[in-house]
This record gives sequence, C-alpha cells and structure tokens, in this order.
Amino acid sequence: MKGVFNKIISINLTDKTHQLIEIEDEIYEKFLGGRGLGVKLFTERVHPKTDPFSPENKLIFTTGPVTGTSVSTSGRMSLVTKSPLTRTIFYSNTGGMFGFSMKRCGIDGLIISGRADKPCFIVVDGKNGVTIKDASFLWGLNTEETYSKLKEMEGDRTHTLEIGPAGENMVKIASIMNDAERAFGRGGVGAVFGSKNLKAIVVKNGKQKTEIQNPELLKCYSKSALDKQKALPVTRAAFPLFGTAGVLHVTNNLGMLPIRNFQYGQHEKAHQTGGEAIRKEIFVKSEACYGCTIRCGRLTKAGNMKGKGPEYESVWALGANCEIFDLIKISQANYWCNMLGIDTISMGVTISCAMELQEKGVFPHKEVEFGNEDILIDLVKKTAYKQGIGIELAEGSKRLAEKYGDAETAIQVKGLEIPAYDPRGAMGHALGYATSNRGGCHLTGYMAAMEIFNAPKRIPRFTISGKPDLLVLKQNQSAVEDSLVNCKFSGYALGFDFHARFMSAITGLDFNVTKLLKIGERIYNLERVFNIAAGFSNADDKLPERFKKVAFKEGLSKNRVVPIDEMLEGYYKVRDWDENGIPKKRKLEELGIDFL
Ligand code: SF4
Repeated sequence: MKGVFNKIISINLTDKTHQLIEIEDEIYEKFLGGRGLGVKLFTERVHPKTDPFSPENKLIFTTGPVTGTSVSTSGRMSLVTKSPLTRTIFYSNTGGMFGFSMKRCGIDGLIISGRADKPCFIVVDGKNGVTIKDASFLWGLNTEETYSKLKEMEGDRTHTLEIGPAGENMVKIASIMNDAERAFGRGGVGAVFGSKNLKAIVVKNGKQKTEIQNPELLKCYSKSALDKQKALPVTRAAFPLFGTAGVLHVTNNLGMLPIRNFQYGQHEKAHQTGGEAIRKEIFVKSEACYGCTIRCGRLTKAGNMKGKGPEYESVWALGANCEIFDLIKISQANYWCNMLGIDTISMGVTISCAMELQEKGVFPHKEVEFGNEDILIDLVKKTAYKQGIGIELAEGSKRLAEKYGDAETAIQVKGLEIPAYDPRGAMGHALGYATSNRGGCHLTGYMAAMEIFNAPKRIPRFTISGKPDLLVLKQNQSAVEDSLVNCKFSGYALGFDFHARFMSAITGLDFNVTKLLKIGERIYNLERVFNIAAGFSNADDKLPERFKKVAFKEGLSKNRVVPIDEMLEGYYKVRDWDENGIPKKRKLEELGIDFL
C-alpha cells in the first residue's frame, strides 16, 4: 500500500534494545494508521489490567497515510497508551512538526515499552538509526530548556517530544510537549514517560518520502480542499485572526461557557479573555503545524513572559472556570503549564474543583477561592513539583474530590476533566462526554461543531431526538480523522468524502465514505472492549449529577438539564451494544474484532 512505510520501530527501555517490526498492508486497510493503528497494536500487546505506570504499559506513536502530505492540516500524529488518570485506553493527538519528521525517517511509528534504570532520551536518526542516550543532564529541566538543549546537542533541524518536571514526578495530569509548544495534552500521558524514566524523543535527519499513488490527483484534491477552507469564514478568518479562543464569545453568549466549576453558564467579564482580547493585548504572531494554512496557533507576550497560546480550552480552564478574568495572569499560568508539562484543562478544572470544595467548607486552604488570580501560577508550580497542596492537585479532580468526601464536585467523566462546553447547552455534545472511550473529552465526537458552530450544518442543540445516531456517526468519523491523521479543524470546511478522496489518491486503494466509517466503527468498538476488559461498564458512562438535576437560572441555556439516561439507551441501540453497553457478539464478528 502506498502512503506508508509498513515499518514500526519497537524500543525496549529496560534492556535498551530495539527492533524493526513489519506491518502488513491488511492492518492499514482495516485500521488506516494513527489512532487506529495504535489501538490495534496496543490491544494486541498490553493486557487491559496493566498498571499504567508499569514497564508493561506501552506508548505507541503513529503517523498515518495522510501525515506530511500536500493535504493542508496533515502535520499531525497520534499516541495510544493506558492513562494513569482514567485507567482507560487513551488516544491523543498532536500537531507541530514531529509527526512529519518522524515519517521522514522512513517509519510509521514507535512502540516504547519497559523502564530505563536512569533518565534517558531516544534519538531516531534518519541516517544513523536509533540510539538511547543518558538524560541525567536534562532531568529537572522544563520543556523549553529541554528542547533548546536537545537542539543544541542534536542539531538545529531536530524535533522533539519532551516532558517537564510534572511528567518526571508522575503527576497524573502531566502532558507530553512537542517542540515545547504543542502537546499531547490530556490523560496524564506525560506521567507515563516519567514512569519509564524517559525524558524526551528526538527525530532528525529524515529524508525519505512515502510513495503517493497519484500525486497529481492528490494535489488537485488538496487545492480544492484549500478553496473550501478559504470560502468558510471560520477557517479563512476567525481561526487565523483570533485562534481557537475566538469561540469564547459564542459559548458565553449561548450561556454555556462554564463558570465557577460549571455552576453558571455565562459571565459579563468573559470577553476580557476571548480571542479578540488576546489579539488586541498579547498577540505577537500566528503559527501553524506543518503545512497548515489555517494557522490557529499563536505566539503571545503576557507581561514579562512570552509563550504559545492560550487556546480556548486553556484560557477558559485557568480563567472563567475559576472566575478569573485577568488575561495576563491566565496567559502566564498557561505558559507555566506548557513549561512544566501539565494539561491546562485538567489543571484548571482541578483547581476549580478545589475552589468549590473550599467554598463548601471541606477544603482547608482558604486562599484557594474563586476569583483569586494571585494563586494560579503558584498552584501550577506546586502541582508540577508535588509540593504541599500540589500533592493533592497532582491526582486530578476525581481523586481530590473523593478524598474530601464530595465526589460530585469533580466535573469529570471516567476521571478526565470535562472541557469548555457546558453539557446543558448541547445535548449531543453531553452524550459525547458520557460515552467517549477516553472520558470527558470534547474531541471524540465533537457534536458542538454542529450544535454550536453550525459546521458543517446546523442542528438544534437542545433536542435529543436523533442525537445518538448523529453522535455515533461523529465518533466514527473522528476515529477516522485521528487515524489518517488529519486535523479536526479541517472538518469545519470539508465534507467527510474528502478524506476518502485523499486516501484513495495516496494509497491507490479504493476508499469511500462507507468503508471509512466502518473502519471508524471498528476502532471505536475495539477501544470499548479493551475498556470493558479493563473493568469499565455502563456505570462509567455517566455525567456529574449537576448536569442531570440543576438547571441554569438565566441565559440562553437556562432551564435545561441533560436527560442522559434516555439518550444512553438510544446510543447503545444505535451502536448495537446490549443494554449494559457491551458490544454484541454479532457486532464484533461483523467488525472482525476477536478481543473479548
Ligand atoms: S488548524 Fe491549527 S491545530 Fe489544526 S493543523 Fe492547523 S495550526 Fe495545527
């Protein structure tokens, strides 16, 4: 099959060995690449009950047939591992240059297992192969320092994945940063690096290109995709001008921007932290992942610090969600999260959980109160270094709230903190949180695109009729996008049929929408059965009680609660799972899954 190298390097950090594994075409035909390939390889190699911090857990980094091609937004790659935060299988996705550069080394991915006896980093060199090097001199450095030292040592054209002190200290909400600017953000995946004594991965010197079956046709499709991106206001103007934070005024106006740990849905000061304010007050320049013309990233300068972001989710989690509206302090806290290697969403929602616990009188740190911007950076640092109060925050909101006897204050699903769309404002999106295989995630189904942003078409946000069917479709589509690998934002402008065209032109095989959706369904079901074997059940497909029982009293999402149980019943039927949410035997046979 064209578009891939059929090769993965498997690296064992315990005995410092590595080997080349051949991947047959048939695997790509059934799982594409990226997330799908990662899930296939992971579920074959890791027992569902494996402790995420044990040497037996693996980190599987993969690119896909679309990665690094002429398709705009194709500079992305995928990670699959078992999360220490959720204890589910965990898929994650990052942009930047690393995926493209790894593919240029003539491989489709890396499998990393074992545990080194002392800090190490891996170099994947397109000319000289794989080496595992001592990282004692890097241990303790933040992600920016690590990145610049590695560039100094390994050459200017080096690209890196690295952790900061949070990952080293196995903080359960630690991220893996990518060239110190983009992230595998969620699920505490940075702590899995730390548990393996792995500080960084370097790729360099890659010169190999995958063969494309029909380059002229691919160019033609790419050009037509670009025209579509240019025709749509959000991809032509809104994202390039205001970044992802440009959507903050939309969710706030619709009364579904979570405020005070999801106690309210809007705030009159929220606009002070939106994309327009970022553009006016701290913007330096826009930035992009490899080959992307949307350029949603930003370099900013807040006070005496410079850094990347803040993205919509970050500016909200560390801001409005904690009732903080000081853009400079929020941005600086965001920079610190990036430098220390912490997921901004989980950090912000864990802090807001602590603030609500304090408000209720059960959390003994008086200074941790809503609106106190002066403690933000200190809490981020204490979490990364597991100092004082940070020892508890480092566990994430679920474990924190359980410790203080008030589990419902943690706004999470399966242990993963819920992001910046209050579920009472979009019912399909709410169902997506409950049923995502990696917990409270907005990207696994991303119904908000249709329910809030009318992309690619508008559907009513409060109705529940038809939502399970649409969500299943979106979740399957999303699994495909993560496997190609292509950025989700391309989906705003492009129909799903574009992915089939890209894949056919690249691989030379006949892909169509139906075939791709079947692959997405296969990936989703395989993740589900892994989670079931790990001990998860329908009891975990649930939302925090406040979304079922407490409605907002004002704003455009007032008087709404989420009828999650009713929607779940429909969802299981559409998925062809039994009433307990377990995929039926016939469904697994149809998809060729023999996992359980
Ligand atoms: S739209 Fe943004 S996140 Fe997506 S590829 Fe482009 S720059 Fe990266």
